[in-house]
Amino acid sequence: MITEISVKTNSKNALVDITEKIREAVRKSGIKNGICHLYAPHTTAAITINENYDPSVGVDIVGEMNKLIPMNGHYQHQEGNAAAHIKSAIIGSSRSVFIENGNLVLGTWQGIFFCEFDGPRRRKVLMKIVTED
Ligand code: ZN
Repeated sequence: MITEISVKTNSKNALVDITEKIREAVRKSGIKNGICHLYAPHTTAAITINENYDPSVGVDIVGEMNKLIPMNGHYQHQEGNAAAHIKSAIIGSSRSVFIENGNLVLGTWQGIFFCEFDGPRRRKVLMKIVTED
């Protein structure tokens, strides 16, 4: 079964902390042990895991990505969002997190982020849990 989790983004580029949404979806699944696969079915967004304790980390990631891959480069793709496609390709569309005793297994400072590069939009994250229960 695939669970669809909606994510609303509020700006062109942003890292949105979705850790609690994912934790809640895992809890609702009732699955205690397994692997939670998360997948963003979008070409201008991504999923990453990084520090969510200090929100300035996400701001820095967005800021430096914008410097590395400028909006107005010399791109072949003429939709005006080539930079967003490249950022999505670099970070990647999916992540997997272990589940133990019904909880996400994350490091103390880690959170799960939806990475928006062509917002604001309504987006989705697809979740599939492979259980070992
Ligand atoms: Zn495009």
